[in-house]
Amino acid sequence: MDEGKFQLTDQMQKLTFTHETTVAPCVDFSGSINGFAFIEYHSIIVGTVPLNISLDVIGFVVAIGKIDARNEDRKRHKMRLQIQDVNGSQLDVNLWGDYCYKLNEYIQKNPNILRIVIILQFAKINLWQDRRYVNTYYDVTKFIINTEIDEIKVFKKILNQDGPHENSSSTFSYMKSNRSSYMKSNRSSDKDDFVLNHELKTIADIFEPIEIKKYVIVATIKGILQHTSWHYPACTNCNTKAVPKNPSNEPSLTGSLKNETYECRNPKCTKTETLTVPRFMIPVRVQDHTGSMTLTMFEQDAKKLLKISAKDLVAKTAKLGFCTNAYPSDINVLKDMKLAFIVSVSKYNVQRNTNQYTISRISDDEILIEELEKKFVIAEGVNSQSFEHGTTDCESQDNIFIKDAISQTDDNVTPMNVFKSTATSPKKKI
Ligand SMILES: [Zn+2]
Repeated sequence: MDEGKFQLTDQMQKLTFTHETTVAPCVDFSGSINGFAFIEYHSIIVGTVPLNISLDVIGFVVAIGKIDARNEDRKRHKMRLQIQDVNGSQLDVNLWGDYCYKLNEYIQKNPNILRIVIILQFAKINLWQDRRYVNTYYDVTKFIINTEIDEIKVFKKILNQDGPHENSSSTFSYMKSNRSSYMKSNRSSDKDDFVLNHELKTIADIFEPIEIKKYVIVATIKGILQHTSWHYPACTNCNTKAVPKNPSNEPSLTGSLKNETYECRNPKCTKTETLTVPRFMIPVRVQDHTGSMTLTMFEQDAKKLLKISAKDLVAKTAKLGFCTNAYPSDINVLKDMKLAFIVSVSKYNVQRNTNQYTISRISDDEILIEELEKKFVIAEGVNSQSFEHGTTDCESQDNIFIKDAISQTDDNVTPMNVFKSTATSPKKKI
């Protein structure tokens, strides 16, 4: 991008060696030996530090990722880190090439090390998906790990005053893997997830939150609840809701597009001070033939259906001059969509006896939805008590039902009647 403009120092002067230049050791040097100019994490996180100039950071490692060595070029091998400063703020770091292996080697040689303090000098900030990462820069960056230099000694001393004590337990953990690739590999095919992995239920079946479990339902979105916001400020590190760090700052109406600092209180998150991005959290009212309930739809599914991210929709709404807390009309396209949902009955639902479940996945695949409904009709037929009804009728009604029992009209019966009789009739096709 602006690689050419990237500067290692803000020095405007150049030192040129000529034929006449002589170099002699300095006998009474009094300045800083390494010349570090450490930057506060906060200014990196909120983006007040320019991206085109190198910087120095110091911190202790709180999380270490695995080396991503997929690229043939060793220089492109990468390791993610999170480091923490004396104030408890955390910073994302990417080590590239040899720098990853240097840290790896250090850990292998010091298997009992509890705290690793590192310094990166002449590092570069890169922006990726709204997050600022401090990166090593080619072979230029100076990478110091736990050495006995003054800066590290002072840093450790401050930490030991009130931080987690070095002698207690390890202060770092290992990251699972790169989050996006982790999510990708974890996402099985639609068919498996909707047809094989979870039980198909009706809304009536799961109306009471009894068991912590995931189920599949097929239902139509009938409305969107207007009394709560449709987005929340998500920690860019873990996606949970973050709270403004400065209590005087109310949760911003624009979904915190401004560079406010937020605090993440998720105990599993490796960050405390964090940046946020608006993410969808839309309460939708869904209905099937047995009843209706409210489900919460999150970013991934809402983005897929609305074809816009919450971040972009917040920006679009604000640009049009509307309050971003009120529902933008764009969200109305969700209405009357018939979808297959995987809903998650959580511990929270069971304990609080509340049935506003979270949608963990949505499919709008018509063939899949048809297939589920077909399966559903058969299952209901088996479970229901025998009902006097002509089998020929059943077959024709079956076909009607498969298409769409609610919207389909028939000369002989009203749609709901089709439904009832089908749901309670003995089926011959099993
Ligand atoms: Zn977080």
